[in-house]
Order: sequence, then C-alpha cells, then structure tokens
Amino acid sequence: MNKIKVEDKEFEIFLENDALNKRIRLLGIQINIDYEGKCPLFIGVLNGSFLFMADLIKEISLPCEVAFMRVASYEGTSSSGKVKELIGLPENIEGRDIIIVEDIVDTGLTLTHILKMIKEKNPASVKVSSLLLKPSALKYDIEELEYIGFEIPNEFVVGYGLDYNGLGRNLTDIYRATEA
Ligand code: 5GP
Repeated sequence: MNKIKVEDKEFEIFLENDALNKRIRLLGIQINIDYEGKCPLFIGVLNGSFLFMADLIKEISLPCEVAFMRVASYEGTSSSGKVKELIGLPENIEGRDIIIVEDIVDTGLTLTHILKMIKEKNPASVKVSSLLLKPSALKYDIEELEYIGFEIPNEFVVGYGLDYNGLGRNLTDIYRATEA
C-alpha cells in the first residue's frame, strides 16, 4: 500500500520494512565490532523504540542486556518550564557500557536530557543508536549519536513503532505525511 490514512492524516510510503531490516543488520554488525569483549546494556526509550530494539537486538552476537525506560514531562517550578524525569532507568548502570536506543531524534532535546541523567550515574560509556535522525531539525550538539539508521528530511513520519496520536505503531513500513 503506497498511501494510507491514519486518523485524519494522509501518509505515503517512505521506508519499506526490507530497507529497514537491511540497514539494521549493518548497525548490528558495527556494534558487534565496536563492543567486542564487552557486555553492553541496551536501553530503549519507550514507546517508539520497541520494534527497532527487537530487530536490532537480533543482530547482536555479543552477550548483552536489554532494558526500557520512559521519559515523563511535567510542568516544573524552574524557569526552564518543563521538567523531564526518567522512569524505569535500570539501577546499576555504573561502570556499564550503555547504548541508548531511540526511534527518532528531532530537535535532540529529549536525548540531551536522557544523556545528562544517565551520565550522572557514571556509566563506563554511553552511545546512542537512533533509527531515524532529522539533521535539519537538530538543535543540540550530541556527540554520542553514533549508530544512525537513516537521516531523513524534516517531515512527520509514522509506522514501525512511531505513532500519530497513538496510532500507526503497528505498521511494518515507515510512512511520511503528504502535507504538513
Ligand atoms: P526531540 O526531543 O528530539 O525534538 O523529539 C524526539 C521525540 O519526538 C521522538 O522520540 C518522537 O516521540 C517525537 N517525534 C519527533 N519527530 C517525529 C516524527 O516525525 N514522527 C513521530 N511519530 N514522532 C516524532
């Protein structure tokens, strides 16, 4: 199906499952090489990363652990407005080699917060694997962004874990909005 509707919005095919899998296989190979002799801890950021994590982890031939966490935002009292909190972050990450698994990095704000809070727990190393990255939307310099699936234009995408108003996460391909 080339065009679909999710709720009120029209989307067109963008990245097919076959292309996603091929790229994820290569990311897995790179991680297997880079982490040889180590036991990385993959931490997925919910909800969007669950399918990417499932496919990525199948390509990993190293001993490894998998965990998931969630970022909750609430209105804080600080001048910065929204305060973000990590829920479900594993306790013992001190001295571990962490790979954060994200569905998409847009402005990079969420990831910047996650990295700050994870680094406070003194891991041995932290890198990020994101299936998608919108380089033209990026507002923060994130040197830990290492394993990127696809760089995409600044468009809204859905499918393969990514939602539109909670819908579309079950689509096996990734679609992009046909109009803003
Ligand atoms: P950032 O903090 O990098 O600006 O935003 C990251 C989050 O925004 C992602 O984890 C995702 O939840 C959401 N997001 C950004 N761009 C898209 C998009 O094109 N499609 C969907 N479904 N979510 C997006």
